[in-house]
Amino acid sequence: MEPSAPITQDVMTFPRKETPSDKINLVGLTRDALRQVLIENGTPEKQAKMRAGQIWQWIYQWGERDFAEMTNLAKGYRAELSEKFEVRVPEVVSKQVSEDGTRKYLVRIDGGHEVEVVYIPEEGRGTLCVSSQVGCTLTCSFCHTGTQKLVRNLTAAEIVGQVMMARDDLDEWPEKGAPKDETRLLSNIVLMGMGEPLYNFENVRDAMKIVMDGEGIALGRRRITLSTSGVVPEIHRTAQEIGCLLAVSFHATTDETRDVLVPINKKWNIEKLLEALREYPKATNSERITFEYVMLKDVNDTDEDAHRLVKLLDGIPAKVNLIPFNEWPGAPYQRSSNNRIRAFATILMQAGYASPIRTPRGEDIMAACGQLKSATERARKSRRQIEAEAGIQAP
Ligand code: SAH
Ligand code: SF4
Repeated sequence: MEPSAPITQDVMTFPRKETPSDKINLVGLTRDALRQVLIENGTPEKQAKMRAGQIWQWIYQWGERDFAEMTNLAKGYRAELSEKFEVRVPEVVSKQVSEDGTRKYLVRIDGGHEVEVVYIPEEGRGTLCVSSQVGCTLTCSFCHTGTQKLVRNLTAAEIVGQVMMARDDLDEWPEKGAPKDETRLLSNIVLMGMGEPLYNFENVRDAMKIVMDGEGIALGRRRITLSTSGVVPEIHRTAQEIGCLLAVSFHATTDETRDVLVPINKKWNIEKLLEALREYPKATNSERITFEYVMLKDVNDTDEDAHRLVKLLDGIPAKVNLIPFNEWPGAPYQRSSNNRIRAFATILMQAGYASPIRTPRGEDIMAACGQLKSATERARKSRRQIEAEAGIQAP
């Protein structure tokens, strides 16, 4: 018999461009900051607002990177712009495509750091999972990213740049004059990649404002979901200054267990977190808060947990997203059985809560929730260290 070829992932690696540049990147600037930087670099103040608006549209509506192509600007002005400025997004280092169509990109940002971005296609829509930090300062014991020390916060340019990069790859910038296509491949954004978005608030906010701007990428605020592990003092600002939907990594129903799984709980416990969520101004029935709950075998998955969760949710417009644990090398936990997850979901549903079980996507390429980590940042802890911190005895 012919030996069959092994099934391998589709990994594409792109040569690295060395682009040390002293030009000012216009990506990631707020409208005001863009206008300001134009003025500082010679655009007459009286024209600056209009020019900023034109350049903004080229960058965010049409995906243009080359000033020479910005044809509604005078030729001389275009040349001046390209001398001083650039339109730069993170560089794709590699791209993997899962059997289920999920795409995982490794992108490179200044300083040689790398972060992962995941695109998940679905029927009639598609979600981009965006990173907000290189690594994470928090150390949730079930999360792969948590084993990587924080290297730095991403800039607003690097956050909105992930969205622009994905639109490039999906070839989804509109064509001039073509009828508007309302079914978008990239229709939703979740801030659920690497990092804790509320520990990088300003940059995340500025990036999302750009993504929402009607004269650009124009994704509505309800198409963006920010996931936090529970940075209580920043939750209120999320509603006020970004206005997007909120998801919370809840994962446990007692402080004792949550202290271990989501250690930020030692700072802001379940009671404080729920108090902040009860006051989340955007939380209404149509904009419910998503409670993310990772299903860990024999840790947080009993019927008692489900009943306790129902009690805790009382008074909060909520839905529960049950996430079967995604394993990663050295992980100190196992996924709950399908029967256990279904039994847990049934209790929640009977109490009136929508509780979908999230289908893991892109598992074969380690693109599923909590599996992200830049392979090059090898500040990885040992299995023993992870277990010790999680309070688990090695078998
Ligand atoms: N730092 C933010 C956002 C990133 S994590 C946060 O913690 O909310 C996105 C979601 O994936 C979170 O709910 C996180 O708890 C969950 N997650 C992390 N590791 C996981 C794993 N191994 N399996 C399943 N879900 C995981
Ligand atoms: Fe950081 Fe979120 Fe992972 Fe916790 S779950 S370590 S907050 S990325």
